[in-house]
Amino acid sequence: MGQIDDKLEGIFDEVIRRNTGEAEFHQAVREVLESLGRVVAKHPEYLDKALIERICEPERQIIFRVPWTDDNNQVNINRGFRVQFNSAMGPYKGGLRFHPSVNVGIIKFLGFEQTFKNALTGLPIGGGKGGSDFDPKGRSDAEVMRFCQSFMTELYRHLGEYTDVPAGDIGVGAREIGYMFGQYKRLTNRYEAGVLTGKGLFYGGSLARKEATGYGNTYFTRAMLQTGSEDFDGKTVVVSGSGNVAIYSIEKVQSYGGKVVACSDSSGYVVDESGLDLDLIKEIKEVRRGRVSEYLRLKGDGNGVYFVKAGEGSIWDVPCQVAMPSATQNELTGKDAKTLIRNGVQAVGEGANMPSTPEAIRAFQQAGVKFGPGKAANAGGVATSALEMQQNASRDRWTFEKTEAKLAEIMRDIHDSCHETAEEYGVPGDYVTGANIAGFIRVAEPMRAFGVI
Ligand code: NDP
Repeated sequence: MGQIDDKLEGIFDEVIRRNTGEAEFHQAVREVLESLGRVVAKHPEYLDKALIERICEPERQIIFRVPWTDDNNQVNINRGFRVQFNSAMGPYKGGLRFHPSVNVGIIKFLGFEQTFKNALTGLPIGGGKGGSDFDPKGRSDAEVMRFCQSFMTELYRHLGEYTDVPAGDIGVGAREIGYMFGQYKRLTNRYEAGVLTGKGLFYGGSLARKEATGYGNTYFTRAMLQTGSEDFDGKTVVVSGSGNVAIYSIEKVQSYGGKVVACSDSSGYVVDESGLDLDLIKEIKEVRRGRVSEYLRLKGDGNGVYFVKAGEGSIWDVPCQVAMPSATQNELTGKDAKTLIRNGVQAVGEGANMPSTPEAIRAFQQAGVKFGPGKAANAGGVATSALEMQQNASRDRWTFEKTEAKLAEIMRDIHDSCHETAEEYGVPGDYVTGANIAGFIRVAEPMRAFGVI
C-alpha cells in the first residue's frame, strides 16, 4: 500500500474504528487520503474544523426492510440501503445496486467515491449511493416489479429532485427504474421526473444516458492514449463485464477502430479473436438476459472463439493493449496487472467502480501504464444523469447528438483537470492523485463556506 501523510493517519484510524469490517470503504478512503498529503502540505487550512473527517463521514445512512412476495406466494425479506454521503455540491446523486453482495460497507465505498466523481463533472450534484442485497437474476418481471415497489415504498420519503436523485447501477436498468418511478409517482401523487435518472425515453429519460458510462470511459481512455500520441485504432482491447457499461464501451471502442476480443459475466469470459460481434452480445444480454457462454453456442466453437468458465482463468490473461474493467470492485488483482503488463498493456480505463486492487494500481503506475481511475473515467454516466435532470427541469428534450457532444466535452474537461492537477502537485501522469485532489478541492471549498454542518 501507499503512504498516508502523518497529519492524516489519525483520520484513517478513526474511519477504521468507526466502520468495523467495511473493507471496501476503508480501501476507498485510504486511496483518497494517500493523495491528500500533497494538498494539506500546500493548503493546511483544509485540516481545520475537522473538514476531512466530515468528508469521510456520510451525512445520513438509511437501512430498511424490504418484504416482497415471490411467484410461489412465499414472503422474502431483503435489506435496502441509501447512503446520502455528501450534499455540498448539490442534491445527493448516485445509483442503486441490486446484487446479493450488497452491504452497508459496499454502499458506503460507492457513495464516498461518488462524491468526488460528481464534483469532477463540474455539475451541481452531491454524492450518494444505495441498493439492496436482492438478486434480480432468475426472477420473473412480476417479482422484480413487486420488489421494486416495496423498495420504493420506504425509500420515497428520503428522495426528491432537490434532495436525493438515484439512478441505476449493477442489476438496476431501465426496467427497474420504470417500476420505481411508477411507485414514486403513485405514492407522492407528483410527476417529479427529476427524482430518478436513467428513465425510459417515453417518460423523461435522456437520449445517450444508456450509452453514457461506456462512451465516457472510452473518451477518457482515448484522451489518455492521445497524451502519448496513440489512439484505439488497430489496438486489441479487453472489456470485462457485459452489462450496461461494458456493452457501450465495446460499441465506442469499435467505432474508433479498436478490436475488442473478450468480455465476461460472473459465469466466465468469452473470447473472439477476430473481434466480438456486438449485435450478438446485445441480443444475448439486453434482449434475452442470458449468459455470455451462449455466444460460443450461437457463433460456433473454433475459429478463435472460446469460453473460459469462472474460476478456470482470468479475462486479464487475454493479451491486449487496452484494458477496460467494467464489471465490479476488485476484479483486477495485482497478479492480473502483472500479466497485463507482461502482455504489453498501454492503458487501463476503469468503467467499473474501484475494479483494480491497490496492488494492481501500483503495478500499472510503476510500469508507466496510463491508468484512468473509475471516479474520473466512468463519470460520464452520472454526468449524463445530470443532463437528464437539466432536461427534466426545463421540460426539454435534447437530441442524441447534442447530449453526446456535451458528454464528450465533460469527459475531456475531467481528463484535463486530472492531468493538470497531477502536474500541479508534482506527479505528472498520475490520474489517481489528480482525480482525488481535483475532486476533493471542489467538495472542500463549499464545505468551508457552509461552516461546521
Ligand atoms: P450491469 O448490471 O449492467 O452489468 C454488470 C456486469 O458485471 C454483468 O456482466 C455482471 O455479470 C458483471 N458482474 C457484476 N458483479 C460481478 C461479480 N461479482 N463478479 C463477476 N462479474 C460481475 O451493471 P453496470 O454495467 O451498470 O455496472 C458495472 C460497473 O460499472 C459497476 O462497478 C458500476 O458501479 C459501475 N458504474 C456503472 C454506471 C452506470 O451508469 N451504469 C456508472 C458508473 C459506474 P452477471 O450478470 O453474471 O452478474
